[in-house]
Amino acid sequence: METDVLVIGAGNAAMCAALAAREQGARVLVLEKSSKKERGGNSAFTAGAIRVAYRGIEDLLQLIPDLTEEEMANTDFGSYTEDQYFDDLCRVTQDRIDPELASILASQSFDTLRWMCKHNVRFAPIYGRQAFKVNGKFSFWGGLTIEAVGGGPGLVQSLHEAAEREGISVLYHARAIELLCDDDGVRGVRVLWEGKSTEIIAKSVVLAAGGFQSNLEMRTRYLGPGWEFAKVRGTRFNTGDALQMALKIGARPFGHWSGCHAVGWDRNAPEFGDLVVGDGFQKHSYPFGIMVNAMGERFLDEGADFRNYTYAKYGREILNQPGQFAWQIFDQKVRHLLRDEYRIRQVTKVTAPTLEELANKLEGVDHYKFLVTVKQFNQSIRTEIPFNPNVKDGRCTVGLSIPKSNWANPMDQGPYEAYAVTCGITFTFGGLKINGHGEVLNEDEKPIPGLYAAGEIVGGLFYFNYPGGSGLAAGAVFGKRAGECAGRLAVMKS
Ligand SMILES: Cc1cc2nc3c(=O)[nH]c(=O)nc-3n(C[C@H](O)[C@H](O)[C@H](O)COP(=O)(O)OP(=O)(O)OC[C@H]3O[C@@H](n4cnc5c(N)ncnc54)[C@H](O)[C@@H]3O)c2cc1C
Repeated sequence: METDVLVIGAGNAAMCAALAAREQGARVLVLEKSSKKERGGNSAFTAGAIRVAYRGIEDLLQLIPDLTEEEMANTDFGSYTEDQYFDDLCRVTQDRIDPELASILASQSFDTLRWMCKHNVRFAPIYGRQAFKVNGKFSFWGGLTIEAVGGGPGLVQSLHEAAEREGISVLYHARAIELLCDDDGVRGVRVLWEGKSTEIIAKSVVLAAGGFQSNLEMRTRYLGPGWEFAKVRGTRFNTGDALQMALKIGARPFGHWSGCHAVGWDRNAPEFGDLVVGDGFQKHSYPFGIMVNAMGERFLDEGADFRNYTYAKYGREILNQPGQFAWQIFDQKVRHLLRDEYRIRQVTKVTAPTLEELANKLEGVDHYKFLVTVKQFNQSIRTEIPFNPNVKDGRCTVGLSIPKSNWANPMDQGPYEAYAVTCGITFTFGGLKINGHGEVLNEDEKPIPGLYAAGEIVGGLFYFNYPGGSGLAAGAVFGKRAGECAGRLAVMKS
């Protein structure tokens, strides 16, 4: 078999790369390890939230042309500038992010989403999750304003439909296992297709096959002891194959190889993601309650920042607790603020009219210590500061060894609700080094001719933490760039 551009993976980054390469006039073939039904990798598990820079409503209207007059009148969409995007990327990654990649992501996000719209990807405001109604008006917060219509499955479906329209074929059950290369660079891939080994020759290859979070051995080797106990939030197919293939031919490893995106995830969720439940096992309303461990103690600042800037690192904190679990506790005052995921059927939840009764129901928790923790927490709150979920309200605790910096409310109105969580790993941060064109660099920082990468397989973007919605944005931005360059190269070679 032979093609111009071969794309490995069929998630968001891969399909953006495939479409961009096709626009250059190249013949494109996509290889996907899973069945057609399970296609779309982690991208299909998302809610489709995507971080984009915009100057205001005029820009948003280009991405969401069907925004209604009523929505515009009732909503403060604010703005999210390229500078804010860049600053957020640097801030949450403790300034370790590759500045060139950060700058490209922030500055190209809007144009890339506009380009996706041309391929019939549709976007909508994320009212349910990113805006609370205060004084009759919705207000967006945390730099995350839009989502793909239909969430992750909708996004994957739209991209695959666009690929079909453009004559791009996808081979399913096709697992890339080796890069074919010689002194002139990469010239194809060895594939296990429906169990049989075969070679596919290509003028350029784009690796977009995700990270290694679903490979228990690699996870434990690189992230460290204990990570074998994490549950995988998304696809079981991202096992680091393409990463290993690239490293084997001298690609340079880059980024935070012992780091990953991991969140609070239902304690009884299955070992891998379930497409029917999607991201419903996550429990992300902790900024409005408290989280306690087996010793009945709080162990992190639930209100350190908007959830968009803390959730991706708190999974690791939960994994580090005895028994790798925690309980999130809420009282009636904040119940209406809980996200939809708290109301799914597959939830590990207990309720009780009083704190004492709740304490008895918190499996694995020191009951007495839990009650002491709540008492001390309730007494420490600066209640004179008004509560406002749309802003970092500064309503904090004083005098606690582990503070709560915003949205602190006394736990005093039953019935109380508690949700058991463990660590759910989303994706790994370590990956390959690329340049701004998406070319994969070798140990000497020189491009490996014919080899490109995009998406979770890229290293150097995320360290320690991650601003919500930037995974899909990065996949789209760098997928498009890698596809354009791979397509141009292939056409030049033809
Ligand atoms: C539950 C959940 C919710 C999330 N929510 C969001 C969100 O709302 N917003 C956001 O920005 N990010 C979110 N993320 C993160 C986001 O999913 C990823 O950052 C992004 O989708 C990665 O895209 P990708 O194309 O790099 O990888 P993927 O979408 O994972 O695609 C990789 C593909 O490669 C295939 N593959 C793997 N190995 C091989 C091989 N050897 N040969 C052939 N094919 C192979 C896989 O089967 C898969 O289809 C979420 C993730 C999860 C799990």
